[in-house]
Amino acid sequence: MSMLERARPELVAFAPYASARRAGFDARVRLDANESPWDSADDGCTDAGLNRYPQPQPDALRARLAALYGVDAASLWLGRGSDEAIDLLLRAFCRAGRDNVVAFAPTFGMYRVGAALQGAAFRTLALSADDGFALDTDRLLALADDDTKLVIVCSPNNPSGTLYHGDALERLARALDGRALLLVDEAYVEFAGVASASALLARHSNVAVLRTLSKAHALAGARVGALLAHPEVVDLVARIAAPYPLPSGSVRAASAALEPATLARTRARIATLVAERERIAVALAVAGGVRTVWPSAGNFLLVRFADAREAFARLLGAGILVRDFSAQPGLANCLRITIGRPDENDALLAALGGARR
Ligand code: PMP
Repeated sequence: MSMLERARPELVAFAPYASARRAGFDARVRLDANESPWDSADDGCTDAGLNRYPQPQPDALRARLAALYGVDAASLWLGRGSDEAIDLLLRAFCRAGRDNVVAFAPTFGMYRVGAALQGAAFRTLALSADDGFALDTDRLLALADDDTKLVIVCSPNNPSGTLYHGDALERLARALDGRALLLVDEAYVEFAGVASASALLARHSNVAVLRTLSKAHALAGARVGALLAHPEVVDLVARIAAPYPLPSGSVRAASAALEPATLARTRARIATLVAERERIAVALAVAGGVRTVWPSAGNFLLVRFADAREAFARLLGAGILVRDFSAQPGLANCLRITIGRPDENDALLAALGGARR
């Protein structure tokens, strides 16, 4: 069954805003988009070509990212970070005041925010920290009903670092077939050393995967993310998206990040961060005041302290900022620590009185 049957009915045949660039024409003299005719570089202050609107979906970047992620270009939509794809999927599928979204908790906070903005109920299965945030897929599915449009699995999960992959995802995709979209958020998958859930796309038209250049590719400021999904879902999202989601400068930065030499450096940095993650996890586990360090497949560690407020203040006093999750249900005294460069991680350990390298 096509997932379009589960989209908001009024959007299935939705005609997008017909922007000048969407028509796809090219010409020597462009008088079609009310742009300035003078190149932005003429005054020497900015990059060239910024006087022109960008392509809505830049072909070359789309093709290169599709190759990197192992999908067809028609299955990939580029947006302003994966945040935009989350927002647009919620808008495309959820009828305000009627539909709902299912996820587990704790997880990335934007799912709840996006659902609330769209007027969709947000149902969560509380995972237990004591149980290592293990996911019982039957209990997650039990939250879904006829009005569930999205089931979201963040893997590796922010903030726990837990990986959910393989059979569990396949089971969820099968159980939700024809009912709801299984959205797998893989913002951190490059640090996990496992295959992407995008392989599920070939077998399940109800699977969607989020990837981003914000983490492993060091481009958070460029705001480039990708939705991998069935071409019908990609087309629907493209039709409801803003006319030009990607600024030209971000497209250039993303294209540069996909050059072979840069990709090789990215892979080396991922290896460094993964090694650092394991080093810091071991060191923190024996540091004074640390209760639990959960295994993580991301570029961060969730750590429970005897007194998180004291640890947070101590780190801040040393000029080190981490994220306090203590107020979230089930995460009392927990801080999330992003893995930094080795010297930054040394400073963290020193501030906490832990072992240095
Ligand atoms: N998903 C997860 C799990 C995240 O942690 C984040 C950023 N913190 C995002 C998506 C959004 O990333 P971006 O919009 O930068 O691609």
